[in-house]
This record gives sequence, C-alpha cells and structure tokens, in this order.
Amino acid sequence: MGEFDLIERYFKAPARDMAQRNSAVAQGIGDDCALLQPAAGMQLAISSDMLVEGRHFFADVDPLTLGHKALAVNLSDLAACGAKPLAFTLALALPQADEAWLAPFSRGLLALAAEHNCALIGGDTTQGPLNICITVFGEVPKNQALLRNAAKVGDDIYVSGTLGDARLALEVMRGKLALSTEAFTAAKTRLETPTPRVALGMALRGIASSAIDVSDGLQGDLGHVLQQSAVGAVIDAAVVTQLLAINLIATQAIKTTINSQFTSQKQLQYALSGGDDYELAFTASVSKRQAVQAAALASNTPVTRIGQIEAEPGLRLIDAQGQTVPNIFASFDHFQ
Ligand code: ADP
Ligand code: MG
Repeated sequence: MGEFDLIERYFKAPARDMAQRNSAVAQGIGDDCALLQPAAGMQLAISSDMLVEGRHFFADVDPLTLGHKALAVNLSDLAACGAKPLAFTLALALPQADEAWLAPFSRGLLALAAEHNCALIGGDTTQGPLNICITVFGEVPKNQALLRNAAKVGDDIYVSGTLGDARLALEVMRGKLALSTEAFTAAKTRLETPTPRVALGMALRGIASSAIDVSDGLQGDLGHVLQQSAVGAVIDAAVVTQLLAINLIATQAIKTTINSQFTSQKQLQYALSGGDDYELAFTASVSKRQAVQAAALASNTPVTRIGQIEAEPGLRLIDAQGQTVPNIFASFDHFQ
C-alpha cells in the first residue's frame, strides 16, 4: 500500500463526512493547506503534542487506545484553555504500512474526534520510527481563554476527576506494584484512554481565574500556574490522597490489601506527582463557588476543591489538622 492509498483509506475517507459537516472547515484533507474559519469574534486556540514509542507508550500497546490517547492529550490542552475543538492535523511516522495497526489506530482516533466534532483536516505521513504528532485547533471567544497567569490570592483551587491512576497502572506494568485485577483494569483504562475535560473547560469560561491540564502531575503543573501568576498555594494532602481513583472504586477488601502494601504517603505521591492524568486544575474566586459547582454539574464532571491560593510563593501541603506535611515529591520530568 502506497502513501496516498494509506491516507485515503485510513484518514481521508473516514474523516470526510465530519469535515463536511463542520462549518469551521472551509477546506479539508487533499490540498496543500487546509482552510479553517473560526466563527466571528473567536480566537483560534492551537496546541501540539507528540507521542513517541518507548517514551510515551509501549511498542505493544493496543493501537485503538493509542489513537484515542494521541488525540485526547491534545484535546486536553484545548480544555485547559476553555476552547471548543474545531479540527486537527496528524503527522505520522510509521515503520511500515501495517494495516492491522492502521485500521484500529484510525478507528480509535476518529471515534474520539467524532465525539468532539473535531475534524481531521490534514497532516503528513512518512516512513520512520513510530511517532505521532497531532496539532489541534479550537476556538474561544476573544480574551476569554483560561490562562495560567491570573490566579489571585484567596482564590480556591480545584481539580477535576481523579489523580494518580495512570501512574499506578504504569507501576504495575513495570512490575513494581501489585494490584487486584479490578483496580488494575480501572487504572489501565485511565492510562490508555484518558477523558479530555473539554465540556468542563468551556463551562468554566468567565468563572475560573486560571487553568491548566494535569499531564505531568498536579504538583508540577499547578506549580506552573503559581509561578506564572506570581503566587503560592496551600493544598490539603488528605483531600488530594482521596482523589486516587482506587480509593473511590475500592471495596473494603481491596482497600485493606492496598493499605497493607501501599502507605498513605505513597498514595499521596501518586496523586500529587503521578502524571498522565489529563484532568483540569483551576482556580476561581470564593464568590464563584456556586458557579463552579454549576459548571461541574452542567459538564457532568466531578470537581473537588483542594486548597487555596496564597501570597507566599511555593506549594505547601497541610493535613486535616492544618499541620504542614513535608513535601518530598517531585513531578514527572522527561529529562530527569
Ligand atoms: P504535501 O506534499 O503538499 O505536503 P502530502 O502529499 O504530504 O501533501 O499530503 C496530501 C494530503 O494529505 C494533504 O492535504 C495532507 O494534509 C494530507 N495528509 C497527509 N498525511 C495525512 C495524515 N496522516 N492524516 C491526515 N491527512 C494527511
Ligand atoms: Mg507532505
């Protein structure tokens, strides 16, 4: 199969209908450039994320979930800015034109794209070590994008969904941790098919003072907000620990096994610095508490208040009694 057959069969043909129905797409796959027309008064939100074999995924990962994840991590960036997805491009390097890989990859990718009405409008295909680079385009009303630099002293800090599950799954796959089948399956689902919080991000326009998506761990990513907003924060360690999904799904029997091999210190570490969560961390003034709850409800996304922005720089952890918890956990860094 040649390059053009491959593009036609797995990307152009299955994406055609979606592009035709999407009013922002003036020209889809097939010309030198795609043409995108955001609605009047909108700004384009643009983000790229690359997935490299051996670094971001194992060589034997299910191509269906890989297709999902490649787009999900990009949509998560749009969500963090409160942008509505419009379209994306796909740059793909493949060792060979393997249809047994391409078919499920394309299915997983385009299923998530259809869910968000985000049209595939172009890309590039080349032979080489497996590498997937997606650029997403979204729209957000002018000057309403949620940014990292506007958290204010006194604001509440929130996080969506659960934390640390993806890292748990990774540790099990690396043979460093044992979990029950039920807990591992739940954690693996979060690692391989994360849910980008697009509806929540859009619902938080005009409510959140700042936002970021948690890809490298809450501690590090919230740290970017603190730094760019020139503020600090205090967060409740017990509340964050409870956000580990195995704590939420676990039956009492599982919980006992978890607690025996898995200290609360360790659980806090996974929740704080696990990485690959693709949840939203955001801030909002105390006067917006009801509005935040309404946004969570409207977008059908659980949201938990975990702390407060303070003037003193840095991130502090406190326990239920308000005592400082030593913070020894670093976030994930590709170069460490
Ligand atoms: P060019 O030579 O002008 O870069 P190509 O021959 O690489 O164009 O691609 C032909 C068309 O197919 C272009 O519209 C391009 O955007 C699209 N395309 C190439 N690879 C992909 C892909 N993996 N997914 C979606 N569209 C693709
Ligand atoms: Mg090309």
